[in-house]
Amino acid sequence: MSSYRLEGPEATHAFGRRLGQLAPAGLVIAAYGDLGAGKTTMAQGVAAGLGVPADHYVNSPTFAILQIHPGRLPFYHMDLYRLGDLDEAYGIGLDEAIGTDGVAFIEWPSRIPDLLPADHVQLKLSYEGSMRRVELRACGPVSETFLQRCALLNA
Ligand code: ADP
Ligand code: MG
Repeated sequence: MSSYRLEGPEATHAFGRRLGQLAPAGLVIAAYGDLGAGKTTMAQGVAAGLGVPADHYVNSPTFAILQIHPGRLPFYHMDLYRLGDLDEAYGIGLDEAIGTDGVAFIEWPSRIPDLLPADHVQLKLSYEGSMRRVELRACGPVSETFLQRCALLNA
């Protein structure tokens, strides 16, 4: 497990950007953390790192459960806070967005334990005073290689 202090929203965004720059197709990032912990800010950084045009991001509906953004790879950003049951997840097509051709970033991943592949990056955000802390864990070989390439393991 690796842990980093994020001193302000820009640091959260920059951290995500680094992940997005090196993310391989099929990568799954499960983002845990309370409301306001910085998950969406991190996702916006990942989008930037994947080369998603900034205007595309800004113009997207804020409350969509699944947002698909074009970048170097497709970016699937999920906010499952309002997700109902697993049927709804399949109806939206979450199974086709996770671990397939693009990069998946999942807020509130505990809503879909059965759809989370064994090999994924566990990313936990928490409050640290007025700042934030991020903890990373690689669950599986693809995620481990990825975090090593980002030089984000064992800090
Ligand atoms: P979440 O998606 O987890 O609910 P958001 O990404 O929407 O959280 O962020 C909530 C607030 O926290 C935003 O105002 C954002 O600018 C701020 N924020 C993000 N990262 C940090 C940080 N490292 N330090 C302080 N504030 C941050
Ligand atoms: Mg959010």
